Amino acid sequence: MKALRGLPSVDAVLRAAPRALVAPKRRSRFVAAVRESLDAARRTTHNGDAAPEIAAVVRDARRRLEQAERPTLVPVLNATGVILHTNLGRAPLAAEAVDAIRNASGAVSIEYDLDEGRRGERHVHARRLLAELAGAEDALVTNNNAAALLVALAALAKGKAVIVARGELIEIGGSFRIPDVMRQSGATLTEVGTTNRTYLRDYSEAITPRTAVILRAHASNFRVVGFTHAATDKELAALSRERGVTFVHDLGSGTVLDTARFGLAHEQTVAEAVAAGAEVVTFSGDKLLGGPQAGLAVGRAEILERLRRHPLMRAVRPDKITFAALVATLELYRDGRAAERVPVWRMISARPATLARRAKAISETLAAAGIAARVVSTESTIGGGSLPEETQPSRGVALTAVRPQELVRRLRRAQPPVIARIIDDEVVLDLRAILAEDDERLIRAVTSAAGPKEEA
Ligand SMILES: *Cc1c(COP(=O)(O)O)cnc(C)c1O
Repeated sequence: MKALRGLPSVDAVLRAAPRALVAPKRRSRFVAAVRESLDAARRTTHNGDAAPEIAAVVRDARRRLEQAERPTLVPVLNATGVILHTNLGRAPLAAEAVDAIRNASGAVSIEYDLDEGRRGERHVHARRLLAELAGAEDALVTNNNAAALLVALAALAKGKAVIVARGELIEIGGSFRIPDVMRQSGATLTEVGTTNRTYLRDYSEAITPRTAVILRAHASNFRVVGFTHAATDKELAALSRERGVTFVHDLGSGTVLDTARFGLAHEQTVAEAVAAGAEVVTFSGDKLLGGPQAGLAVGRAEILERLRRHPLMRAVRPDKITFAALVATLELYRDGRAAERVPVWRMISARPATLARRAKAISETLAAAGIAARVVSTESTIGGGSLPEETQPSRGVALTAVRPQELVRRLRRAQPPVIARIIDDEVVLDLRAILAEDDERLIRAVTSAAGPKEEA
């Protein structure tokens, strides 16, 4: 109780604080930090600790203020080996997309028809390019794939029923669950089949006059193996046509290029899903496509027109920045340059020997700076709900540390922050998801975080 009385007042702390902390622009935030600091001190003095000196409160409050002022959205180096890391912003954009964003930052013809000199259509951008790449009649862009699916179900099945196989009632990270999206769209769910086996007749028997849609959802982040069966896309397309319902396919990642070209398992392409008869195929812009966050819907013109006219479209329409980056990315595909220019594909196609050479050069530079580092073999993954269970042989730099957790924490505070993994008590910087042009930045960040000075 005596210690409590010894706590300095807010005013006393403010009087003792350097001017920069109490300047008009910062004062109110510093006061809040001082209050927080005193509250924390009050709790520890309750436990019998001595009250802190004024200078200590100033220091603590400054630390709190600086912490609160630090930006939360900062560029990082993704040394996790996961190419499409949802927590790290998924696909890094191609330089062409970045330029397009810069060019679109000011006034642009987002809804302006330059030929006619009057109001134009936001939906024209990317429409033809996307349809072409997908071999579809038409295309539509939303904020993300979840939104594309939501609008599709709301436009096609509100107040009606949607049939989904039990094995496809998926949850993607970030609490995206098919049954929840369904509820929000106003459609009701008809589950068919079992977790591992669903036959065409299960769908067929479940169709009633209330049924509007058969939905297929890509099992993005898991695989069902063993005693399994699923109706094929072609079967579902034929059944849908025959019974007058719409076949919607949520492809998840969606890829335009054939993943088998890169030594990965073949992932059904967007064009294949369209060719197999789905009337609407939805997928993400920032997964294997390698573009900005967006939801892409391709398919039959008449069906997509119903989506386009739905009032929800207004709420999920993309901005000019998204369109700019998306169009620039799609143009790389159109021009056959995606494999060389889209970072996702550059990362996927990096050879282990190339990664090993880079890892060796980085290790040697770090070693010269007194940081124990060596080249290690790793397994990287694509991530972002594509090619589940598929790994690629990769190479990384292992840093030996007495306390790996501590080193990982320091790397997170480096400039730029480096997000690393711990494998077998070693801190591993996987190079799969880092482009070669960032190796220098990686070296600088690691040197500052793990240099001999820090280790002492
Ligand atoms: C990733 C994914 C989604 C969600 O896509 P977002 O673009 O993140 O909204 C939906 N369905 C499947 C199958 C997915 O893999």
